[in-house]
Amino acid sequence: MLRLQDISKRYRTGELVQRALDGVSLSLRDSEFVSVLGPSGSGKTTLLNIIGGLDRYDSGDLVINGVSTKEYRDRDWDTYRNHTIGFVFQSYNLIPHQTVLSNVELALTIGGISRAERKRRAKAALAEVGLAGQEHKRPNQMSGGQMQRVAIARALVNDPDILLADEPTGALDSETSVQVMELLKKVAEKRLVVMVTHNSELAEAYSTRIVKLRDGRIVDDSDPYESEEPGEAKPETNRKKARMSFFTSLALSAQNLRTKKGRTILTAFAGSIGIIGIALILSLSTGVNRYIEDIQRDTMSSYPITISAETIDLSSIMNTRGARMGGRGEGEGEDEKPTKVTVDLSDLKTREAITSSFTENDLTAFKKYLDNPESEIRKYVGENGIIYTYDVKFDVYARADDGALVNTAADIEDVEGTGTTGFGGMIRNMSAMRNMFISSVSSSNNFTELMPGADGAAVSRVVTDNYELLYGAWPESYDEVILVVDSAGRLTPETLYQLGFITAEEYKRVSDAVQAGEEAEEIGLEYDDLCGRSFWLIPACDRYRENEDGVFSYIGDSVTEEDALLENAVELRISGVVRPTDSTSNVSISAAVGYTSMLTDHIVSRTNESAVVKAQEADREMNVLSGMRFEAPNDEQKAEDAISYIRTLGVSDKATLYTLILFYQAQNAETAESTPEPTAAPTALPTELPGYPGGGGYPGGGFSGGGGFSGGADSETMMAAMLDRWIENSPDDEILISIYERYVAGSTYEDNMKSFGKVSYDAPSSISIYTDSFEDKDAIADCITRYNDTVDSETRITYTDYVALITGSITRIINVISYVLIAFVAVSLVVSCIMIGIITHISVLERTKEIGILRALGASKRNISQVFNAETVIIGLFSGVLGVTISALLTIPINAIIRALTDSVDIGAVLPAASAVVLIAISVVITVIGGLIPARKAAKKDPVIALRTE
Ligand code: ADP
Ligand code: MG
Repeated sequence: MLRLQDISKRYRTGELVQRALDGVSLSLRDSEFVSVLGPSGSGKTTLLNIIGGLDRYDSGDLVINGVSTKEYRDRDWDTYRNHTIGFVFQSYNLIPHQTVLSNVELALTIGGISRAERKRRAKAALAEVGLAGQEHKRPNQMSGGQMQRVAIARALVNDPDILLADEPTGALDSETSVQVMELLKKVAEKRLVVMVTHNSELAEAYSTRIVKLRDGRIVDDSDPYESEEPGEAKPETNRKKARMSFFTSLALSAQNLRTKKGRTILTAFAGSIGIIGIALILSLSTGVNRYIEDIQRDTMSSYPITISAETIDLSSIMNTRGARMGGRGEGEGEDEKPTKVTVDLSDLKTREAITSSFTENDLTAFKKYLDNPESEIRKYVGENGIIYTYDVKFDVYARADDGALVNTAADIEDVEGTGTTGFGGMIRNMSAMRNMFISSVSSSNNFTELMPGADGAAVSRVVTDNYELLYGAWPESYDEVILVVDSAGRLTPETLYQLGFITAEEYKRVSDAVQAGEEAEEIGLEYDDLCGRSFWLIPACDRYRENEDGVFSYIGDSVTEEDALLENAVELRISGVVRPTDSTSNVSISAAVGYTSMLTDHIVSRTNESAVVKAQEADREMNVLSGMRFEAPNDEQKAEDAISYIRTLGVSDKATLYTLILFYQAQNAETAESTPEPTAAPTALPTELPGYPGGGGYPGGGFSGGGGFSGGADSETMMAAMLDRWIENSPDDEILISIYERYVAGSTYEDNMKSFGKVSYDAPSSISIYTDSFEDKDAIADCITRYNDTVDSETRITYTDYVALITGSITRIINVISYVLIAFVAVSLVVSCIMIGIITHISVLERTKEIGILRALGASKRNISQVFNAETVIIGLFSGVLGVTISALLTIPINAIIRALTDSVDIGAVLPAASAVVLIAISVVITVIGGLIPARKAAKKDPVIALRTE
């Protein structure tokens, strides 16, 4: 039972206040057919909307089953509409893009009823209005009467207590009107039907009660009803809360969108444009990034950070050069007249800077740091790891055309007394300076090791990239070397002579001609001729030979052993000729001949296997070169070792030594009365004692140089015999000990090993650290800086960053490109967000009527925004997929264009799968965000106004 108590409703439009209802009181029976008649504008629709809970009254009360609705909240009204009320409109208000069945189902859908149940009940309702079998038609495929019957079926499907019909026959011809009226009459048998109509004939013919309205007031009621029990409350059976799941909203929206394919595709396409923009930029930047990464990996895998035991600090020289320029300005310029004579320090400063820029690195300490698994630097080391190289000791010989054997490190002054170029001339050329420096520390200044490549390559790309092969090939095995000429294909005459390419005589002719100011004869050596030549490498260990007594002798300088040494030498062949490329700012080969690290390894293992090294390693206490201990434990032993030592000496050495002993004894006799000074003895003994390579003598080249004794052979023999006799007759311990200290002691195990050319793996001559990216390389540089901060100044590391020298500002360019791309992506994100927002807004406007219908059917505000959000989710998903697909397709022509434009550069735009997924997600999120405000607006729309829109 429904009762209106003094209901008033005013509409305010600007200044004008329209009284739509003015104190209407009306009681309605649970089951009757009420017709509301009245002229247009009398408030009929308003009355119906208030009864249906679609519109709110200003004053009075609507009592439903004895319950006042004054305290009703939105949700209560929604439930009321959904379960208690069925609406039928003049203009049917069917949703055009849904089937008849879906239209009828709508109220159930909003009520959250299951799909199967919905279908069953909707079909039953349709059958009830005589439309069985027409479920799958669209509203626009039906006649007006049929549509109105669909509307009635929709109103009845939820089995409401009240059916409200606003001019249901207004748009129908009389025949169909009768059909509809018959239907309503049947409906009214079990329910309350309130029908607004203009047609008083129909009203009178079918309805059980007629209420007449005029100017918002009831002017007539044919069958007034006064309820006997005002407080009677009917049990609420039908008051389940209206609730629609989000999945249902999705299904609803999907269905809605499916029926509007063209529109949906256009909307999604519009939305996808932003996504396409982002996706394309992303693809492009991914392509560029991959390209850059490839280059980085490529570069970094072949361009390590290299730290050499001896290095030139290029930056410190650069600084000095700058300082020197500044220095001129410092002197107040040349214009000003000097008033005094002052000192020009610039040359001195330059020289000092150059001298001090030759720094030595403590690679032993640094290697310990690198080997420590805790060191942070190890995080940045790339796939190719760290490569250590070692300096091995060897001599290389060449044979000149005249058959002469030349040590490639031979002093050029042996040939002729010409000095080397002056210091000033040398420093003009960086690489010459480097050569000069290296020649001062290396034993074979025409030979240098080539930086080994990554992945076991014989020669690093640092080298091969910077040198042009003029002939032959780069060395590929340990016994191949490369000849390095200058860019004009030249070598200095000294080098040519040292390498045996020209004879001493030819060299002399050239240098004489230059000295005489004449034109020197032309020397032209064919590449293929040079490449047939050999060098002979003799490792240091080969220069020690075992005697019968197990002691090793140094035979290095003995001419008689030359042939034997050469026979066992490593024969090296020139595999090719290279010159620095024009762009080379950094000359990495510092000598005329470059050998591979394989040769170093070869020599290292040969040294390790050599008899002298093995013998020395077998007994670390015993000096294999003397057969005696490195360090005698006591004086007795020292005297004994001194005697053994004297026994090994030759006649002339013995004679010299005996002379010295006699001289010493005579001196001591003079000072016999004063306190004897045993420590004075060693100073009296000469250091010139030759031959024995134990103490101070070795490895000076003075083998052939005799002692100071110049007496005849007879007197030598006599003196030697006297020394032998002196030894037999209990010699003076003091003298023996001083002989020991002078000639026997002082040599260590390490000294010997060094002489044998054995390298210690703790002390590399250079360290190459490979990384995988520029960033890692920078991180390594930072690590080295931090390492330098933790160690004392002697252990600090300076190094050459080849990559920085070669690639320059590439990193900066890459960063700029990245920022530009990020900015583009951000802009397209904003643009697509706005675009999607606008599209959703338009979609809301377009569906205003639908919102009204849904609200009339009991949809809550939340349901409405839910439906719209569901729709934006679907559209977002669709535009995301569409955008990603279109972008993926677009990359094909784009890549073709890039390839055509950039020639060989391999930049392939590609959209990574992960990014595609993220983009689709972004599309959904953005669309939903863009649609949130319009959806909320839609939800807030007054259903009455929404229904009035066309
Ligand atoms: P009827 O259905 O009897 O033709 P209505 O109930 O639609 O009349 O309208 C009653 C009066 O209220 C009319 O004068 C109408 O102009 C006015 N009215 C109805 N709805 C609104 C509205 N939303 N805003 C302003 N005036 C309105
Ligand atoms: Mg009306």
